[in-house]
Amino acid sequence: MMKESIKVRNNSKVFSINWALMNNCNYKCSYCHSDLNSGSIKAPPYEVVINFVNKIINHAKKTGLRPFFEFGGGEVTLLRYFGDLIKYINHNNGQVCIVSNGSKSLKWWNENVQYLDGVSLSFHVNDIKDKEHFVNVAKILEGSKKTRFHVNIMMDPKKFDECISFAEELKSKVKCSIALQPLFEGFGHGGITKKYTYTEKQDLLMKTFRGRPEEKELPIPNSSVEIEYFDGSKNTVSTFDLLVNDQINFIGWDCYAGVESMIVTFSGDVHRAWCMQDPAIGSIYDKSIQIPILPTRCKTKICQCGADLSSTKINRNVHKFDDSIIITQSI
Ligand code: SF4
Ligand code: SF4
Repeated sequence: MMKESIKVRNNSKVFSINWALMNNCNYKCSYCHSDLNSGSIKAPPYEVVINFVNKIINHAKKTGLRPFFEFGGGEVTLLRYFGDLIKYINHNNGQVCIVSNGSKSLKWWNENVQYLDGVSLSFHVNDIKDKEHFVNVAKILEGSKKTRFHVNIMMDPKKFDECISFAEELKSKVKCSIALQPLFEGFGHGGITKKYTYTEKQDLLMKTFRGRPEEKELPIPNSSVEIEYFDGSKNTVSTFDLLVNDQINFIGWDCYAGVESMIVTFSGDVHRAWCMQDPAIGSIYDKSIQIPILPTRCKTKICQCGADLSSTKINRNVHKFDDSIIITQSI
């Protein structure tokens, strides 16, 4: 099917930053590399973060897009200034989404949910003993009208049944989208190779399980993309659908990661995308950086991260391609 498609377009009208803010975590999941949870890299100071946030807010304003910050870690809610940061972005018309293990206190979630446009809670069966706390946090997020709320159940093959039974319990108690996430070898280590081994039945369950609709009026999610086919037909899918259906090879396509989105690493390096096939654009510590205004040509075998998958891509294998130089724009 991917062979016949000519475009994967992101229509959410945001300029998105997927930011790995700090690599410290209060959990140490067995399938998670220490690069993601050891705290080996110092988180950037608040002033540096705000300085870069301001650059993005100004750039987004100029391009008529809404700034959209997606923070992940580690566990970002542990960061001392995190509440202030999301409040600042919110007050400057930016959107904030976070990935979290949900372990912060109910008080923290009650105070900060007003600044959160999206929350993706990950359920880790190895490390979360307190399923009740997870459900209570989920209820706070369900109750926030502005917050798109999603849960990823990390499907540890050794505890598959326990994961399923929690997914069903959550679905019965809370209205939100739920995905059963297959785990990949090399998670958090930049060298993702292949999925852990699941049975056919488990694979099918992961592809078909869904939560319950949220019943909130929310803008188009950044993770939703429109696929256009060679015959002119179109359909809209999520990046999760692309991933579970193995539609992740875009070699030879023009990719707009960098033009409509960027990523920031734990050490503050700014790249077009997590595939990092091109050199860094700059660093959050730089005085100014050059934002690309032309796409890059994909030469990476697996486009596996949600942030990377969500950027617009045009299939140049079926269209004539004018070789273009990379032009950049200073911010
Ligand atoms: S998978 Fe998430 S919750 Fe688990 S140790 Fe890694 S960063 Fe922490
Ligand atoms: S792998 Fe990288 S260059 Fe290729 S489509 Fe994905 S984000 Fe773009």
